[in-house]
Amino acid sequence: MTPLLALRGVSRQFGGVAALSDVTFDVPAGAVIGLIGPNGSGKTTLMNVVSGVDAPTSGAVLLDGAPVHGLPAHVLARRGIARTFQHIRLIPQLTAAQNVALALRRPQAGPADILLRLPRLRRIEAARLSRAEDLLARAGLDRHGAVLAGDLSYGDRRRVEIARALAAGPRLLLLDEPAAGMTLTERGALRGLIRGLRADGITVVLVEHDMDLVMEVCDELRVLNQGRPIAAGLPAVLRRDPRVIEAYLGAEDA
Ligand code: ADP
Ligand code: MG
Repeated sequence: MTPLLALRGVSRQFGGVAALSDVTFDVPAGAVIGLIGPNGSGKTTLMNVVSGVDAPTSGAVLLDGAPVHGLPAHVLARRGIARTFQHIRLIPQLTAAQNVALALRRPQAGPADILLRLPRLRRIEAARLSRAEDLLARAGLDRHGAVLAGDLSYGDRRRVEIARALAAGPRLLLLDEPAAGMTLTERGALRGLIRGLRADGITVVLVEHDMDLVMEVCDELRVLNQGRPIAAGLPAVLRRDPRVIEAYLGAEDA
């Protein structure tokens, strides 16, 4: 079966720094795949390359077997790839619901609705905010839609980011350290959310340092070290893999 996402010899060079070197792996449809590795191992760069924020220096990214590397992020969003950012990117002066509504494709007001302020405009805006509230509730934020994003706790802003990514209706969702800054309770809710996404058929790539969360929600792991894939397989097996342990311990020693 063709994997939903395939990387084939993907490299990304920044001057003399090889952020990614010859990365090849698959992400099967319907799975939750953990992408782990020490700081600086290329995880965010990989997400940037897959989501079209960046392009590989060489190699191929295939979605359903078709090459997509080098396509811009908005095109890949339409093809079903959504992501959150390690460093939160919300508009603090807008409410949580408005931030999410910005990423919705439908219903959309046309230029005439906006210029003439037709009654249809208010109906469309109300429908968009209501859909945004639904997505916030799905991300575990059911009473925060009207709160300014800038006034939310860090953990809540992370969940608005997830709701915003879901607004595009993705098939593939890339989460870059979603649990960072979350309380234990929030992490528990995030675990439930990710499992729910999988139950709905959304494929997830999870970059996360919280190993308990990774072990609990991921079907399989891909491990990077210094831009290179060093291991892939089942969480329970890799947690005892000397290569993986050494990569993490090596990073702690540094
Ligand atoms: P991770 O997310 O695993 O911590 P990154 O993908 O952020 O790692 O970074 C991998 C390597 O690439 C690091 O050495 C980092 O400094 C470098 N890097 C990432 N982005 C850039 C950039 N835009 N310009 C130069 N170097 C970069
Ligand atoms: Mg990163």
